[in-house]
Amino acid sequence: MAGDVNYGISAEMSFPDESKAATQEIRMPEPVNDVKVYLNRIDLVHQQISGNKWFKLKYNLQLARQLGFDKLLTFGGAYSNHIAATAAAGKLYGFRTIGIIRGEQHLPLNPTLDFVVEQKMEIHYYSRAFFRTRNTLEFFDNIRKRFGKDVYILPEGGTNELAVKGCSEIPGMIDSEYDYLCTACGTGGTISGLIAGSEKKKIIGFSALKGGDFLIRDVENLLMKSTGKKFNNWIINTDYHCGGYAKVNDELLSFKEKFESINGIELDYIYTVKMLYGIQDMIIKRQFESGSKVVAIHTGGIQGNVGMRMRLHPTGFIKQ
Ligand SMILES: *Cc1c(COP(=O)(O)O)cnc(C)c1O
Repeated sequence: MAGDVNYGISAEMSFPDESKAATQEIRMPEPVNDVKVYLNRIDLVHQQISGNKWFKLKYNLQLARQLGFDKLLTFGGAYSNHIAATAAAGKLYGFRTIGIIRGEQHLPLNPTLDFVVEQKMEIHYYSRAFFRTRNTLEFFDNIRKRFGKDVYILPEGGTNELAVKGCSEIPGMIDSEYDYLCTACGTGGTISGLIAGSEKKKIIGFSALKGGDFLIRDVENLLMKSTGKKFNNWIINTDYHCGGYAKVNDELLSFKEKFESINGIELDYIYTVKMLYGIQDMIIKRQFESGSKVVAIHTGGIQGNVGMRMRLHPTGFIKQ
């Protein structure tokens, strides 16, 4: 079993290392025909600034620094990988960080928030109702009044044009030949980068949310804003949310266990496991031509697993 994460424990944090992102062949629990599946391990770039979140952050950090900001502010749920990555990146690169967390405070802090506080992120809780207005001008005004004009604001999930630029570098790091490139989707920032960075491949996004059709419009808009172009080599598959965002079912959990024991690679419960479960099902349904090569991106997110296990097994019985 891939080991538990030591989030936050290391006193010395190292800088992200993109050369660690190898692409390796993996075995699916139910191989069907000669479809080959590979995993691109951007999760290995950094333990805390994990996977796609590093690629989404890097040009934002650069711009924030260039513009002279020393404070980053961002938004997310209480288990957010983006919040965790921003807190760690802030500490590592010398920015103060503010996290606006959706919902009420629960004590003791969950492992994600415990980690971000340890990284010196200042956290504030906003009611779900108010949080829902986060894309309005009024909300922004309120943030600026409260936290000052000198904060660099990262949108939820870190998704903006610079995030697309960062993620557009991922396909170029994959050294094997392939036909399909797959990623899990939350806000659509990562897939937008993959699309922009690999025009000739077929890109498949797997929505981690129920009702993920909004992603199509969001990705189109984001691509238009960041590249000025339209692309038609991608789809969003909305069939594998398994009940909704951060929801799991027994079949998904059993897939996760099998996949991890065959490959010795830990998956997260919210994104990567649903993508791979979807890829497995598409293979079974023969939706990939025989002989095709599929690269799936391991976007990271392992920091959330400890908190997720606590939610799945509130009595303290931890299965894996
Ligand atoms: C945030 C995240 C995603 C979703 O990325 P988007 O750019 O928001 O679509 C996928 N996988 C993991 C592990 C994540 O943390």
